[in-house]
Amino acid sequence: MRVTPSLRTTIPVIVLISALAVAISGIGDMPKTVMSAAVDAAMAAEEETASRDNYFPNTEPLGSDEMRVIALGTGTPNFRRSQASASWLVELDNGDKFLFDIGTGSLANLGALEIPYTYLDKIFISHLHVDHIGDLDAMFIGGWVSNRTGPLRVWGPSGLKPETGTKYAIDRMREMFTWDLTGRRGNMPSAGGHIEVTEFDYRKSHVIYEQNGVKIKAWPAVHTIDGAVSYSLEWNGKKFVYSGDTVPNKWFLAESGDADLLIHECYFTVQQLIDLKKYDPERARIVSTVLHTPPSSCGKIFSRLQPRMAIAYHNFADFNVAPGTLEEIRKTYDGPLTLADDLLVWNVNADGIRVRRVIGTDEAWPAAPPQPAGPPDRSERTEQSDWLKSGRVDLLN
Ligand SMILES: [Zn+2]
Ligand SMILES: [Zn+2]
Repeated sequence: MRVTPSLRTTIPVIVLISALAVAISGIGDMPKTVMSAAVDAAMAAEEETASRDNYFPNTEPLGSDEMRVIALGTGTPNFRRSQASASWLVELDNGDKFLFDIGTGSLANLGALEIPYTYLDKIFISHLHVDHIGDLDAMFIGGWVSNRTGPLRVWGPSGLKPETGTKYAIDRMREMFTWDLTGRRGNMPSAGGHIEVTEFDYRKSHVIYEQNGVKIKAWPAVHTIDGAVSYSLEWNGKKFVYSGDTVPNKWFLAESGDADLLIHECYFTVQQLIDLKKYDPERARIVSTVLHTPPSSCGKIFSRLQPRMAIAYHNFADFNVAPGTLEEIRKTYDGPLTLADDLLVWNVNADGIRVRRVIGTDEAWPAAPPQPAGPPDRSERTEQSDWLKSGRVDLLN
């Protein structure tokens, strides 16, 4: 049994007018009868869309000044078919898209959205735990195979030493895939076969990206060792906040006010770790309360910051976890709340926040980009050895 959406969310009722506005703006030169027919059709389409309680990928253009956030992974390092590790997609009405973390298994959910990988070239890493970067390799190389037309761009924190920073991790990832990359270079469009890394100081609260009216800020998170951060994205008066993994800390409280969506980790309780994972009590206490934020503290974060929608993630969204999580949060916070699960979607606009579930298919794949990715650079090609070629058997003719 899953917790039902009505229990999991508080959903303000909003009226969507964007489809009608888009339709009207494009029909200025049409005769009146055609125009009224077009308006009727748009109104019918709008009514149909507004009545849907689910989100079907590739069917809803964003309205003016609208932000859409989709949970691609909300779980733990123990990713499973029902719940991938951490990843969040933010889409803006100007076409900009941003990924925050790319945890193991999340790429399958991203694929279900049918978005060309060439539009998914900006990833902001909160820290280098596998449940936050585990699908970065598949994103890098899979995106290249899917005709990304430029490099994958990654932002991530430094560490206390160069060896614990983002740049070091990605350099080693490239080394790990030396065989893969050597075989592809010269045979695939060269433009998509690169990663650009921007490593920034994890100790500062600072803007690390500013373009097209989008401002992304990072600040220190307190989680295992030095080198984890939290993020905010601000655009057109809207604010998305993502904690990554952290215990409650002064930087988060200072930076996360006035959030529309405030996503905070909300780990298992001590007792849940003892019952479900068979941790001994001391280990359970350390993991839940020293390395992570337990639901009781998560509720206090939400009540202090009063976001338009609080979102709790980083646990099992299951029948035997979610009720306990909810109970603990509700002891101190009674505002709008979503207990996150994979493929929930939040539409944020001036009228309110709408929370629904994505209905995709397991069979979908990322759509092809509108332009070809360009030619390969044949000079980069590595030929097979004569010895290997001598083993070929020609069955083509
Ligand atoms: Zn972590
Ligand atoms: Zn984590």
